[in-house]
Amino acid sequence: MGALSKFISHLYTLTIIFFTLLILEIAILVRSVAGLNLNSGKRVITTTQYLKLIEQKNPTICYTKKLNATECSVCLSDFEEGDKIRQLKCKHTFHQGCLDKWLQEYRATCPLCRTKVLPDDVVASYHRLRNQVQYDGSDAELIFLLSSLQGNTLHRFF
Ligand SMILES: [Zn+2]
Ligand SMILES: [Zn+2]
Repeated sequence: MGALSKFISHLYTLTIIFFTLLILEIAILVRSVAGLNLNSGKRVITTTQYLKLIEQKNPTICYTKKLNATECSVCLSDFEEGDKIRQLKCKHTFHQGCLDKWLQEYRATCPLCRTKVLPDDVVASYHRLRNQVQYDGSDAELIFLLSSLQGNTLHRFF
């Protein structure tokens, strides 16, 4: 008799462990499926791809005195013969390094006149990637899901 009740309580513990694992499994599965859907809906581009697009639209050139520009408005220093520069469609000219840093940190517009350098969707895709690195809410979601499951069980008992 004692052995049987021991066996039943053992079985009960095993069942609880099994269901807890099952719930965890489902939570992880739901999370990964939701994550996949989110990623496929939102296109992201890397820094390398972003810089390549900038290069395609505004190729790097060497500064010569013939160009109608004297100083870079980002670092406020004069151009020197042979400096690597980019000239935008609006004819504003900047050091290649200064402009690339600007275009990565801020919106993809000319620092002087705000003319668009890259299409909006490209910029949005790039900033989405940067934001993803800073913020990832998936683990918080899992904890929320588990705590709400626990809350429901407690309700049923009390
Ligand atoms: Zn500069
Ligand atoms: Zn400009």
